[in-house]
Amino acid sequence: MRCQIILNAFKGDLEKQLEEVNCFISESREDIELNNVLIIGGDEMDGDDKEKLTEMVPTSSVIFVFMERYNSEILLKYLETIVEKEDICIFSSGYMGLEIAPRLSYRLKGSVLTDCERCYEKEGGLFGEKKFYSGHMMGEYKLLNTPVFLCLSKGQKRLPAESGIETKATEVYLKDDGDFFSNVKQVEAKQEEDFTKSSFVLVAGKGAKNQGTISQLREMGERIGASFGVSRPVAMNGWVPMERLVGASGAILAPKIAIVAGASGAPALYVGVEKSDFIIAINNDEKAPIIKKADIAVIGDVTEVLEAIVKEILGEEEANE
Ligand SMILES: Cc1cc2nc3c(=O)[nH]c(=O)nc-3n(C[C@H](O)[C@H](O)[C@H](O)COP(=O)(O)OP(=O)(O)OC[C@H]3O[C@@H](n4cnc5c(N)ncnc54)[C@H](O)[C@@H]3O)c2cc1C
Repeated sequence: MRCQIILNAFKGDLEKQLEEVNCFISESREDIELNNVLIIGGDEMDGDDKEKLTEMVPTSSVIFVFMERYNSEILLKYLETIVEKEDICIFSSGYMGLEIAPRLSYRLKGSVLTDCERCYEKEGGLFGEKKFYSGHMMGEYKLLNTPVFLCLSKGQKRLPAESGIETKATEVYLKDDGDFFSNVKQVEAKQEEDFTKSSFVLVAGKGAKNQGTISQLREMGERIGASFGVSRPVAMNGWVPMERLVGASGAILAPKIAIVAGASGAPALYVGVEKSDFIIAINNDEKAPIIKKADIAVIGDVTEVLEAIVKEILGEEEANE
């Protein structure tokens, strides 16, 4: 496979990026044919820097790709023209690869793996490894389509690139015609309370079914003094901001009381509430995993049960206000 290495000069640690990619490649499949190094950056890079980098790269060609400012749209347009069907493109770790690799893969109908730790061949296929569950497990992913886009994980091992080959440097200037955004509006982010330190939390799940019910549950929780968290499907649907996600990919809570309402209690969510002193589950399925894990379980509809809890705590009159 032909390999293109893509480094981000806007980040400024090119030597480190190159050493990380070099180590990654040396531990990957042997038939990777290094083709090109692309160095994406602003035009402030001076001649000495370029010369030094040209000597360091382990390929016979390096392309300095300059832009006035980092602009993913023009970069994507350019990369689309130079990536070929059978290529493997390796991005150094960081924001550029995390954005460009998936978008380019989508456009060119390839495969992508971000935060990739290793790539290797097995049973005639190409595989990549990445950590998940906050780094507690390693996942193996088969990369089915080409071109393949890999974005390296942070903190890869490093290996100095011993080039020793003659490298031809070329330069490309990408014109920023600035017509990608028709209307840019800055919106101030709302300051959310830090619910991870709360002693009483209501965690709502997909059982709530829609954004309207989620807002209703949140309001009921607030009336009885509970902070609000959600399971992944609720956050992924955009019903509440991602910062409210509880579990392996979100917040790990340790409140005195956690009400888990309309969530099945999958391991990835449960890890976020298991440190609670007392767990109350509300679920209409008595076989849901959370029922066995909770200290108290109420079998019933999430809205009806929460309404009853609010009435019990505030009293009938105040609850109906
Ligand atoms: C790498 C990885 C990381 C993940 N990280 C997270 C994470 O951080 N947090 C997380 O939450 N998930 C995470 N997940 C997803 C996780 O595995 C579960 O899919 C998710 O927790 C399920 O959310 P849920 O319980 O809301 O939905 P479901 O599993 O669909 O459960 C909905 C529950 O609601 C009940 N219900 C339905 N209607 C009602 C009603 N009217 N009244 C009462 N109950 C009702 C159902 O009986 C069911 O038990 C991760 C998955 C992966 C692969």
